Amino acid sequence: MAIEQFEKLVNLYHENKLSHAYLLVTNNIDYCFRDLKLAIKQIDCNEEYKENCTKCNICNLIDQNYLPSLIVIESDGKNIKKEQILELKRKFSTKPIYTKENIYVIKNAEALNSSSANTMLKFLEEPEDNIIGFFITNNVNNVINTIKSRCEIINIFYDVHELNIDSIDNDINKSYLDVAKNYLKKIEVEKNLRIMYNKSELLNFYTEREDIKKIFQILVIIYEELLKNKLNLSNSFSKLNIDYLSFLSYKDVLNRINLLNKFLDDLNSNASIELLLDKFVIEMEI
Ligand SMILES: [Zn+2]
Repeated sequence: MAIEQFEKLVNLYHENKLSHAYLLVTNNIDYCFRDLKLAIKQIDCNEEYKENCTKCNICNLIDQNYLPSLIVIESDGKNIKKEQILELKRKFSTKPIYTKENIYVIKNAEALNSSSANTMLKFLEEPEDNIIGFFITNNVNNVINTIKSRCEIINIFYDVHELNIDSIDNDINKSYLDVAKNYLKKIEVEKNLRIMYNKSELLNFYTEREDIKKIFQILVIIYEELLKNKLNLSNSFSKLNIDYLSFLSYKDVLNRINLLNKFLDDLNSNASIELLLDKFVIEMEI
């Protein structure tokens, strides 16, 4: 669900008041990108947009990252290269066919180096009516000034610590934690009936997307605490009474955290929860 700032953007779009470039300053690039994509679906949807539209081709193409008029540029880990911007210019030199606007998203805008930023600037200086740009950064101080000054800046902050090691066993969350721990024990220790555990240990208790999300957020916290424990950074893990996970290596734990985060990302799409859970346990086995 898009948060307030994104709803404003969608409204501005419908009032024809959208600027041609925005810099979204956030503390969580992934969440911000997820919500931006939802906003873009609302802008481009060719039905009357309903939450998580699955009816129209445009929204489906956006979900699959195949809409030609939406280009997402990411860094190679360090830099966004000049060639990536040139490629974007080339693709956007023609008007879009399926949507009204061409939209580009630059993830980690701080990764634009001086040469790619220069190429980008020309794009920003000659704004065309049918192009909208979004830059996302979690490090606004490192975004090149000439880019910053040509964008409208929006701050988007997420409360990422809603759940933490101290709050997962309070009255409200206790029952989620219990389910999470039992599920964990089954898939990590007992193992033999893997996919069955999704039904018997999870879906038997919770079926709503938001509940499953909470359980998986708790699983992330558990593994993160285990990781800290392995690195001697904190001993909070011991109070969870989950000794049966101690056999995992540092690398195992990292892999699991990645899988869980991937699952949580996927859960934000409209894919079937059961299918995602099956995929998750299968990937845990590898
Ligand atoms: Zn749609």
